[in-house]
Formats: sequence, C-alpha cells, structure tokens
Amino acid sequence: MHLKYFGTAAAEGIPGLFCTCRVCEESRRAGGKNLRTRSQALVDGKLLIDFPPDIYAHCLYGGLDLPSITACIVTHAHEDHLYPDDLVFYRQSGYAYDGQAGAPHTKPLHIYGSNEVIALVRARDKEGSEAQGILAPHIITPYTPFEVEGYTVTALEANHNPATGPVIYCIARDEKTMLYAHDTGVFPTAAWDYLAQTKPRFDFVSLDCTGMTKAWRDGHMGLPANIEVRDRLIVMGCADAQTQFCVHHFSHNGGLTHDELLPVAAAAGFLTAYDGLELSF
Ligand SMILES: [Zn+2]
Ligand SMILES: [Zn+2]
Ligand SMILES: [Zn+2]
Repeated sequence: MHLKYFGTAAAEGIPGLFCTCRVCEESRRAGGKNLRTRSQALVDGKLLIDFPPDIYAHCLYGGLDLPSITACIVTHAHEDHLYPDDLVFYRQSGYAYDGQAGAPHTKPLHIYGSNEVIALVRARDKEGSEAQGILAPHIITPYTPFEVEGYTVTALEANHNPATGPVIYCIARDEKTMLYAHDTGVFPTAAWDYLAQTKPRFDFVSLDCTGMTKAWRDGHMGLPANIEVRDRLIVMGCADAQTQFCVHHFSHNGGLTHDELLPVAAAAGFLTAYDGLELSF
C-alpha cells in the first residue's frame, strides 16, 4: 500500500493566511517542507481522502491527477477537509469535459462521508451534479465496513466537533491495513471498543498532531496524546514494532516549524508528514 500526503496543515495552513507569529514567519522564510497546505492524501494513486480548498494547488503543484479519481472518502464537514463548491460545480459540462471538448462527464465521482458531510455536499449541489449522475454521494455508517475501489473501508467515530460528523478511517486491502486519523483527539470509547473487538493489525497509522502539549487531547491531539494512542494500539495488539506511525495535520499552535518538529517527533518514534511525502508499507 502506498500513501501520498498532498496537504498536512490544519485549517489556516502554515503559514496562516494572515498570521505573523514566529512559526508562520519562520516557515515563510525557510520555505520547502515548512510550507503546509490543508490536509489531503491519496492511497495507491486512486483512493482520495478529503477534498480541501487547496485541492487545485495539489493538482497544479503536487501531482494530483484529479480527473483519474473516481472515489473520495471525507473525514468530516469542516471546510478545510471538504470544500463543496469545487466538488459540485467544476465537474459540470462547460467546466469539465471527458476526453474532448464538448463531451460531458458521464461517470460519477463517488463521495463517501457521514450524514453531515453528504448533507453539506447536497446543500451546495444547486446545479444538480448528483441528478446528472456525475457526483454520487454515499452516506457511511461508523463501524459498518464498505467496499470502495477494492478497499475495505471502515469509519470509526472521531473525537471532534460532533456537528461535522467526524470519522477516522481504517483502510484495508491485500493483507495491508492503515489507520488515517484526523481530525480527532484521543479516540472515543466506542472506537477503542471496536478496535478491541475486531483487532485489526495496522501496518501504518497517521495521527492528528495539531498541538504539542499534553492539553491537546480533545478535538485534536498533540504529540503526548499521539504517544498515548500509539502505546495503547500496541498493547491491544493492533500495532507492533513493524507498524509505521506518522504525525500530520499541523498548526502553528504546535509552536514548531517542520524543521523544528522533525527531530522531536523522530525521538518519540514518529515520522513527520509534509506536503508531498510518499510512503509505502
Ligand atoms: Zn482539520
Ligand atoms: Zn502563525
Ligand atoms: Zn475539523
């Protein structure tokens, strides 16, 4: 299994649009991996995770081949992870053709998400992309596995604003399993119970690391909560010494640029995601 991160920031990006704090100014100055767009990732070049407002930049500069994508799973209905305007309008005839000018798309882009996610998509779909069959929303239910693009995907409830229908995703295919977990604090009891009952063995785990202090454990996590979650997964048998753990979804509120975070996370046993990072497991 292969994962590429296109964006690794929380809502405001790093540097924040209007921010002149030390982290944002130093990130602007240093550039490179210190610059982070809003979170998005792709599994094996075909299963897209989230549809953020920076998706156009991910296509132009990150190598995302969006016309080839037929399925996207969405974590929740916050706008840094679901930007419905681009999703519902620009696949329409006149904005997008399939192969030659004048030939409209006829196949749907499948969107999977909670009730709240799909409600947001449908509320913006005034021009009828769903009715035209070029957008196919699917409401998912936590703890009920579904099949998409050859993957078995299971959503677990997240510890995040409940109004956004937040979930984290277990993604499995060909004996490989990954856990993709933002936006979330330390997992809710129901998610831990599900993991204890089903005992998946994760090859790769991606964890929300919006902050850095111990206080970051509800809504989002910081590195201390990431360590707690990792250790609990190992004790439960859901992870082991071969499991790769990676932190992502960063904010200037963590107080560190990418260059500064890298050795801190490595010392704690974590990879640090950056825009463009590709991993195989
Ligand atoms: Zn977020
Ligand atoms: Zn800042
Ligand atoms: Zn969020």
